[in-house]
Amino acid sequence: MTASPSPRPATKGKPKLAFRPLPVPQVDVHGFWGDRADAVATRTADILYERCVEARMLEQIDPDRPSPGIVIPFHSPSPDEADRQGAEFTGSTVTTQMFWDSDLGKTIETAAYSLYRRKNPELEKKIDAVIDMYGKLQQEDGYLSSWYQRIQPGKRWTNLRDCHELYCAGHLIEGAVAYYQATGKRKLLDIMCRYADHIASVLGPEPGKKKGYCGHEEIELALVKLARVTGERKYMELAKYFIDQRGQQPHYFDEEARARGADPRAYHFKTYEYSQSHRPVREQDKVVGHAVRAMYLYSGMADIATEYGDDSLRVALDRLWDDLTTKNLYITGGLGPSAHNEGFTSDYDLPNESAYAETCAAVGLVFWASRMLGMGPNARYADMMERALYNGSISGLSLDGSLFFYENPLESRGRHNRWKWHRCPCCPPNVGRMVASIGSYFYSLADDALAVHLYGDSTARFDIAGTPVSLTQASRYPWDGAVEITVDPQAPVEFTLHLRIPAWSSSAMLQINGEVVDLEDMTSDGYAAIRRNWKKGDRVRLDLEMPIERLYANPEVRQDAGRVALSRGPLIYCVEASDNDSRLHRLTLPRTADIEAHEAPGLLGGVVTLSATARADAGDGWQDGLYRREPPASVETRLTAIPYFAWDNREPGEMLVWLRDG
Ligand SMILES: [Zn+2]
Repeated sequence: MTASPSPRPATKGKPKLAFRPLPVPQVDVHGFWGDRADAVATRTADILYERCVEARMLEQIDPDRPSPGIVIPFHSPSPDEADRQGAEFTGSTVTTQMFWDSDLGKTIETAAYSLYRRKNPELEKKIDAVIDMYGKLQQEDGYLSSWYQRIQPGKRWTNLRDCHELYCAGHLIEGAVAYYQATGKRKLLDIMCRYADHIASVLGPEPGKKKGYCGHEEIELALVKLARVTGERKYMELAKYFIDQRGQQPHYFDEEARARGADPRAYHFKTYEYSQSHRPVREQDKVVGHAVRAMYLYSGMADIATEYGDDSLRVALDRLWDDLTTKNLYITGGLGPSAHNEGFTSDYDLPNESAYAETCAAVGLVFWASRMLGMGPNARYADMMERALYNGSISGLSLDGSLFFYENPLESRGRHNRWKWHRCPCCPPNVGRMVASIGSYFYSLADDALAVHLYGDSTARFDIAGTPVSLTQASRYPWDGAVEITVDPQAPVEFTLHLRIPAWSSSAMLQINGEVVDLEDMTSDGYAAIRRNWKKGDRVRLDLEMPIERLYANPEVRQDAGRVALSRGPLIYCVEASDNDSRLHRLTLPRTADIEAHEAPGLLGGVVTLSATARADAGDGWQDGLYRREPPASVETRLTAIPYFAWDNREPGEMLVWLRDG
């Protein structure tokens, strides 16, 4: 393995203070995230590959094997739709998918990041073989899509609206960039550069090219990564074109439908809000449609806003951020309540038991929030990134890294359990690649500043003003809010260290080399800015008070009326059947209850539980019927809550986030 090359600037005119995430290999994580990254490196990465093989993905991409034929794509929900796409309706039987390339791309990416943590020559060999298949599959002109080459030949570039053609390219690009960085092997990167060049020859603003863009965003943020790693500005320009062209009139998806003899009004999802192409992106002010698509679009917009210093995009992104976080986000950082469109419905509609809250959507929110931090440290984004990271995204991965959730409800009667795989397996490799690359979400670097967004045991290495610096955090976060930072520059160097002061912390104390400093004076946008000439062994200590909080929802959220949720630090808690005697819906947490935190090192890999004396509705005297004049008697009981991310890692049982508030 070779070390990752530092990303090179690809654009002119980027804002001077642009912050870039530190590349994955420059951050070692231990503690909480180290455990999760180990689970991915030792189990998930191999499991993803094996499941892809079992799902017969390699048969679709390997030109040396017979084409697996056609079955209905998962995202074509009706026989009519299948017919329109020339596919055969076979119910739920799936042996090919239009988006297999994306799952392989994310699997390659997860494997790549995992190689930094643990050498895995067997897996590397298998990934090399997959890359060889893609090399063979790629056409002379650079085109590469297993679906269009093997399953629907002759139809390329005819249905960008529905068929994930550019989405697949995007995930393979991300996989290629990560694999190149981790192994130094360029083969997939070269393949994807050729394909990106081909895409730019077909689509774009120039006369004679199609004015298209993808129905499922992803290519935008992937091209930004490709531009950064290759230093090729043309890929950044193509990403910018996709952002700028989206939703422009005449609408490309209308024209494209007519060109293939279809009626644009027959679109299954009825509105282009589904793919956030109902309006040009700078005019959008509501988060709408498919939640994962929305998060990927906003991520790409944030990248372009940073790279081009584009304030018109930044303004639109801030409107969308407000709309999401003040009206459409679960307390877990999950989003997109509806299975129908895998996305948003109406403001304050946040059902708990039927919450779709796809793992990929919370992962996508982490992507978006981290990119907003490219424009400078701001706890408005980082606090939410932390919320989604510690709760609604990693809930999608079992503690041992082997089982997955697609939906992440906030209430379960015990029948929502983790699965080994899914016919649309987008979530497992998405949470896998996020966890395996977690170090790059901790820190971002500008010309003369380093921002610390996340806390936890870790070491970061970076160069600032030409001086190599190592920065070590010692902390038991998220179980304890004390963070000890040691800065070790090779030679004294001046820069600003930005430290996030999370909004959940009721009070914080900062010491520099043992001296308490006034935080208020130095804090803006939720970050303390420490500018000094750093010398070897300089120490910064941050003590974040981590109170147990009761959280209430806006009264417009009908599903949470009269209910309370518990949090401590970045973690949202839930109650599970395993720790509680009563059926969970019978529990009431009195407002006067004294809630205690307990270390439970032997539970769920080591967590802090919350417990309190609560009340439970008694079942006595209800044997005869359903209704009566007297309310149920109330008995005292002990309530114990665990972190939400760790639920459903024991025997199946009920789970509840929003408790009755008494
Ligand atoms: Zn997913």
